[in-house]
Amino acid sequence: MTDLYLEAGLATLPEIKDFVARCPYVILPVGSTEQHGPHLPINTDTMIAEAVALATAKRSRGLVLPGIPLGYAWVWRDVPASLTLSFDTYVRVITETVESLSRWGVKAVYVMSGHGANPQVIKHALRESIHGKIDVKVLYGMYAGLKEMIAEADSDSWHGDVHAEEIETSLMLAIAPHLVRMELAAADYPPAPADYGQSELAMGHLMRSGVFGDPTKATAEKGRRWLDLAADRSAALWTSFLERHNLPTGE
Ligand SMILES: [Zn+2]
Repeated sequence: MTDLYLEAGLATLPEIKDFVARCPYVILPVGSTEQHGPHLPINTDTMIAEAVALATAKRSRGLVLPGIPLGYAWVWRDVPASLTLSFDTYVRVITETVESLSRWGVKAVYVMSGHGANPQVIKHALRESIHGKIDVKVLYGMYAGLKEMIAEADSDSWHGDVHAEEIETSLMLAIAPHLVRMELAAADYPPAPADYGQSELAMGHLMRSGVFGDPTKATAEKGRRWLDLAADRSAALWTSFLERHNLPTGE
């Protein structure tokens, strides 16, 4: 059986043309460049999205694009080491990337985010400028399995968010352990006023160390388990999405 996944960033024109001709499906990891406290690199969200996307493709199918490292990170806009695109610009980035792929003959794209604020913008892009206008089916969302990870974690989440805490730190220990400064990891649960989530207050206003949760509970073993979980759940979702659209998933 010929491989049903390919890392686009490492491949050449003929390899990509051949792949898309027999498997017109793309997984597009999208991340964010943003502060992750003293112990994780600012590329964390993009690296996690790329790792889960590749593991998902290996379990299902798809051409895995290099991750888009800029996202919608309004919450960090006043915080150094963080970059954000405006909502409208990010709508265009997603729309025009899908439009480019449609010119290759790609039929379906899974936009997989490693950053929690991207999916709301991608949803808007899909509804307002992709669906019915570009002949590509789009599946989007955070990598799957996050709720299960939060339930399995040994520390409480900060308001259900996953940022530089046990889960992201564990995933990074599995993906790129040499980039994790575990000796600098420390728990931090910044207090949040009652109106947090229903006012202008964002994580960037409330942050102290930049950590939201307890990264000291992270281990590489949990990270490997959660990477597998995310890839298993994401691959199942992607396959069922392709089947719902009657897009062939056989070799
Ligand atoms: Zn993150």
